[in-house]
Amino acid sequence: MTARAERRSFWTWGYVSDEPSIAERRAAAERLSARIGESVEPPPVPAIDDIVLQSPRLEVPDSLSGWVSTTTAERVTHTYGGHSLELLKALRGEFDHPPDAVAHPASEDELDATLAWCDREGYVAIPYGGGTSVVWGVNVPGDANAAVTIDLDNLNTVLEVDEVSRAGRIQAGMLGPDLEAALKPLGLTLRHFPQSFPWSTVGGWVATRSGGHYATNHTHIDDFVESTRMLTPRGWFESRRLPGSGAGPSPDRLVLGSEGTLGIITECWLRLQKRPVYRGTAGVVFPSWVSGCEAVRAIAQAKLWPANLRILDPSEAEFSAGLSGDHALLIIGFESADIPQGSNVRAAVRIARSHGGVIEDDAILIDDGTGQATGRGGAVGAWRNAFIGVNAGLTAGLGLLADTFETAITWDRWPDFDAEVRERVGVALRDALRGARLSCRFTHVYPDGPAPYYSFSGMVPVGAEMERWRVVKDAATDAVVAAGGTVTHHHAVGRMHRPGWEAQRPALFGDLWRAAKRCVDPNGILNPGVLIDP
Ligand SMILES: Cc1cc2nc3c(=O)[nH]c(=O)nc-3n(C[C@H](O)[C@H](O)[C@H](O)COP(=O)(O)OP(=O)(O)OC[C@H]3O[C@@H](n4cnc5c(N)ncnc54)[C@H](O)[C@@H]3O)c2cc1C
Repeated sequence: MTARAERRSFWTWGYVSDEPSIAERRAAAERLSARIGESVEPPPVPAIDDIVLQSPRLEVPDSLSGWVSTTTAERVTHTYGGHSLELLKALRGEFDHPPDAVAHPASEDELDATLAWCDREGYVAIPYGGGTSVVWGVNVPGDANAAVTIDLDNLNTVLEVDEVSRAGRIQAGMLGPDLEAALKPLGLTLRHFPQSFPWSTVGGWVATRSGGHYATNHTHIDDFVESTRMLTPRGWFESRRLPGSGAGPSPDRLVLGSEGTLGIITECWLRLQKRPVYRGTAGVVFPSWVSGCEAVRAIAQAKLWPANLRILDPSEAEFSAGLSGDHALLIIGFESADIPQGSNVRAAVRIARSHGGVIEDDAILIDDGTGQATGRGGAVGAWRNAFIGVNAGLTAGLGLLADTFETAITWDRWPDFDAEVRERVGVALRDALRGARLSCRFTHVYPDGPAPYYSFSGMVPVGAEMERWRVVKDAATDAVVAAGGTVTHHHAVGRMHRPGWEAQRPALFGDLWRAAKRCVDPNGILNPGVLIDP
């Protein structure tokens, strides 16, 4: 039924082959035990066939049985998204609210029939891409009569490429690597690389307004979307392909970030580009976080538009790039298919040096056209490896709580914003975690402000993870929103970020969204509880 070559792991990010072995988990537990001075043991992973679920509360009609399944494996692997605490529940065999059935439509007709069935019967319908939501976006609500998860994995083709305008018509269920593999023979690329790229889909990116690897300029998937096609319970909603338009409110802006509450995105025209061959990279060390951030502002406001402009605070630079712990690290990267990048990277380094940044001339790496990556060595390479190797599941269940929160704020409120957030979150961390760490980097930067990404970790009693996490998460949300930031820059709202989103958006916008939802989804079957209550 499913198009994916491999089964998704039910307790960690990625696929079964991404799961760490018990030997690797034991080794991680030993390292952690040595660090914290007490012995911790990895819990066993339940066998998928031993997991007991409540019986499905629906019967699949014969006409849909070719692509709708109620097997335990399907229901287990679609119960949770990608947040570490829901994956921890899965590891512990807790599946209180699995979907009653999982659909894998292979055509728009099959999708239409599935959604019509849900609408007729009043079943909750949950659009599902790669299941990497970290904001509780793909879960079955506890009060659902019955729920059907609609996995788009069989809608996974590049349908058309317009090489003249450089855009592609791409189905929503395409995973990042499959998309890039399909475009490569044409010398084209989307170059939208969220950290979850291997496991997330085009439809998921558009539905959540994901943020990719471009640190400046085209930061969100929004910037690549030319048009969208979405099935709602009331029918099709398709926008016109246009390079730009000032014709009133944009239909695509209603789809972008709709998080499966209005309809199921089946395909999009996305703007493509030629693959880069010119690159320039530099890792600049700063004596302080504040001076490094000032350099970032100056580079962003010089409008050089580097592909990478990520500054790591001293704690993060130590942890993930091997620096001493006293210095911040700024990673600058430029790329282009057509234009040599030497002068751009040198211009950015000049600005960085004028703010106290240190880099030897021969550490500025320039590749003028061979297409070789330049950022794979030294501290820059160490950080890249830490970013890509997310160590999925290695420490799950050991009492090590680790999570992130991310935001964006205008420069006029930085660095006071940072100080306030660290102060308030620091108090919560001291209350809730043992040996807590808090660090920050910028994932994206705009001429008018940065998108800071905070990571925290520390030990909690095994079994108290959710309660302790809640203390820190609430403090982080309150601090970020009270200090004028956004509750999320690119992780979406889902159910998790609703309180923060409600606090920051106009109240009337909530009413407008509810009215829009009632128009296209009158029975409120699509993702109830995500963004709003129906
Ligand atoms: C390790 C890790 C790293 C991450 N890094 C990043 C990052 O760098 N940048 C970033 O932006 N996010 C990141 N995320 C979050 C997540 O990957 C993104 O939100 C991503 O866009 C979700 O895509 P998906 O295909 O997995 O969607 P899912 O998780 O399946 O769904 C996400 C939401 O969109 C809805 N949805 C999915 N497909 C459709 C569709 N076709 N039509 C309508 N609604 C749909 C779902 O109902 C759900 O509400 C990360 C997550 C993990 C686990």
